[in-house]
Amino acid sequence: MPEKQDEHIVIVGAGTAGCTAAGQLAREGYRISLIEKESKPGGKVNNWYQLFPDRRKSEEVLKYLLGEIDNPLINISLNTDIDSIIKEKKKFLVTTTHGELLPADAILLATGFDLFNPERKEEYGYGIYDDVITSVELEDKFHSGAILTSKGVPPKRVGIVHCVGSRDEKVGNFHCSKVCCVTAVKQAIEIREMLPGTEVFCFYMDMRMFGPYYEELYREAQEKWGVNFIRGKVSEASENIEGRLLIKVEDTLAGRPLKMQVDLLVLMIGIENSLSGKRIAEDLDLKIGINGFFSVLDNHYGNNLSNMEGVFFAGTCTAAMNITDTISHARAAVVEIDSYLKSQKKEVEV
Ligand code: SF4
Repeated sequence: MPEKQDEHIVIVGAGTAGCTAAGQLAREGYRISLIEKESKPGGKVNNWYQLFPDRRKSEEVLKYLLGEIDNPLINISLNTDIDSIIKEKKKFLVTTTHGELLPADAILLATGFDLFNPERKEEYGYGIYDDVITSVELEDKFHSGAILTSKGVPPKRVGIVHCVGSRDEKVGNFHCSKVCCVTAVKQAIEIREMLPGTEVFCFYMDMRMFGPYYEELYREAQEKWGVNFIRGKVSEASENIEGRLLIKVEDTLAGRPLKMQVDLLVLMIGIENSLSGKRIAEDLDLKIGINGFFSVLDNHYGNNLSNMEGVFFAGTCTAAMNITDTISHARAAVVEIDSYLKSQKKEVEV
């Protein structure tokens, strides 16, 4: 065990993947520097109210993640970013934005994702109309215990738009963000639960309910909560003279255009590789895939490995994934790092 403490791993990002990997590597006896650009660890889990598919409180998962990094071998730096990473032979020298110099034997990039900026889809009116909000802003309303429109009243009708910034070649994102269909279903149920008199309409291209219990949640939304699902694309949102939102939809099942008034329009914004991740990729010459995320060495049996020896990936910096898959991916990264460092040690001993 003490031998491992001589080895130092820098983990960039203290979200779900970073905290999971840091905890496990520290239990293996490695010294960890965990670098986080935000003011607290836990990443985007801090934003959510309840999690799909079982609608457990996000605080429970957050507590698990914070428990993982409660280890004397982990040194966490908050409000800190990476200034540069230089590779010298087999070792790395990481410089943080606070001027700290961190020699490292391995680097784990767990830089997570950025949420799509919906202002890039002007036709939905985000930033123009106060009652067009994002899925993350709706979570804030759940947290506050009240879902109110900008006029301070509960909405009578809510529209939820799927695939905002995903599967959209106009914004250069061909990928499916994977988690927004089930997020829409979860949020639709939460709205109906908090406001039983409010109608909820989801506008989708396809319902992609890939995970365990997602399909069941989708059925529950329809059968128990009366959520309306319309297969169609919202083409435009505007405001009418009474200040209500007017949306135009192409109903692709009925084959006819539809106009509807809603009081709140919620945009299911997609996931993109983070800007800080992309910057590191440029710095280290790491490959980026056509989807904009880090390109892994092998899609089937090397999806924690980068094209640079000693640099590893964990979580949504490689692709959209849910929390469960992110934790599994981070644990797999730990196995890869451990076996890499052991092989390095053997090379030195020979
Ligand atoms: S998960 Fe659903 S809403 Fe999200 S990008 Fe994929 S199809 Fe669109």
